[in-house]
Amino acid sequence: MNAPRPRAALAAVPAYVAGRPPTPVEGLESYKLSSNENPFPPVPEVLEAVQAAAQTMNRYPDMGSTALYAALADHLGVRTEELAVATGSVALLYHLVQAFCDPGDEVVYAWRSFEAYPIATAVCGATAVQVPLTADGRHDLDAMAAQVGERTKVVLLCTPNNPTGPALRHGEVEAFLARVPSDVVVVLDEAYGEFVRGEDRLDALALLRQHGNVAVMRTFAKAYGLAGLRVGYLVGSDVVAGAVRACALPFGVSGVAQAAAAEALRHQAAMEGRVAALVAERDRVHAGLLEQGWSSPEPQGNFVWLPLGADTARFAGAAEAQGLVVRPYGEDGVRITIGEVPANDRFLRVAAEFEPKA
Ligand SMILES: *Cc1c(COP(=O)(O)O)cnc(C)c1O
Repeated sequence: MNAPRPRAALAAVPAYVAGRPPTPVEGLESYKLSSNENPFPPVPEVLEAVQAAAQTMNRYPDMGSTALYAALADHLGVRTEELAVATGSVALLYHLVQAFCDPGDEVVYAWRSFEAYPIATAVCGATAVQVPLTADGRHDLDAMAAQVGERTKVVLLCTPNNPTGPALRHGEVEAFLARVPSDVVVVLDEAYGEFVRGEDRLDALALLRQHGNVAVMRTFAKAYGLAGLRVGYLVGSDVVAGAVRACALPFGVSGVAQAAAAEALRHQAAMEGRVAALVAERDRVHAGLLEQGWSSPEPQGNFVWLPLGADTARFAGAAEAQGLVVRPYGEDGVRITIGEVPANDRFLRVAAEFEPKA
């Protein structure tokens, strides 16, 4: 008997490895430092908006997410036609690849980078072109530009790069865009954009005004602390944003998520204060690692990276024995989310006591 057969492309889809919840260790409070979540609870006004919106969960949400589109347009100074809202920026990514790639079309991205990239590419039947990062965990934009060819429809730039941490600077992205044909969509995935510090910070919306092929992806999951509600947005030309909206699921973003996101936009100062505290912790942890003699690329998100090679799994085990769940990546390294202060202190102690063999 013949069983139903999924499309052949699905056989090539790598499984998404989610950050695990902590395994309890006796006498120790456990911390989850494996999913780049925000350790701060939601601001009270957002919680109130969520409670109010939950009263009407017997109804479908506003299909057009009207209030959220209006709030975003106002906040960003763009027209609603230039926006697409979906159930997280991972969903936006799927919709974008689906909207622009026929089977065999190519998606160029750096590797290692966000693990949703190979999955979204494969699910949509497109072909991944992975360009290795430089030794210090940065995008190699020259090599990426050289890989853009006839079949390239989409380039994904992850800034700051998850999981290694460095951010792209405005000038280098500008120079990159000058080398990429104007019919290739260049996605700037700014999931951690609010955490970037330093000179020549990326102004993605300014680049979008100059280049109609730029698409900016942002999320409420990280800086705004709404990971559990699943909501993100894309800013692009009318054509790009419209194509992404056309692929989105009707009623995808729940009423609760719409209300929370619109309310969160009204509390920028609260968000920025929390981000500043996490950035200070990130820089303290990174300085501590360098002092201990580790090499670790410049962190610009809410996480740090240790390139542990063959020691990767052993380090994750050592952290777990101390009640910390971190995120190991094969034999590349470990990503550690910046969390509560006691969790960060404990991570620094684990790192200090670890004896590398590789
Ligand atoms: C966390 C993350 C996202 C956000 O995903 P959501 O679906 O909005 O939760 C997007 N891109 C990168 C690189 C991320 O790390």
